[in-house]
Amino acid sequence: MPDETRDDCIREAARLVAGQAGAAELLLDIHVADRSGRCRGCRQHDRPTPLWPCVLVAIARCAAERTNPSRTTLW
Ligand SMILES: [Zn+2]
Repeated sequence: MPDETRDDCIREAARLVAGQAGAAELLLDIHVADRSGRCRGCRQHDRPTPLWPCVLVAIARCAAERTNPSRTTLW
């Protein structure tokens, strides 16, 4: 997927997440790096675990920027 298309998808998903109170913070609490640099929140037994930050972190960060720009420096 081209970077531009991926960024558009992330922005659209972030718009939806931003509409749910607390959703961005919940995603950021769950999707944290493990010791190997992979995402704990995306871990599944039947497929490889993505590197952190995963796409859900990108979506949550973008949503957090929309809802509370002053907090984005914490992530
Ligand atoms: Zn994740």
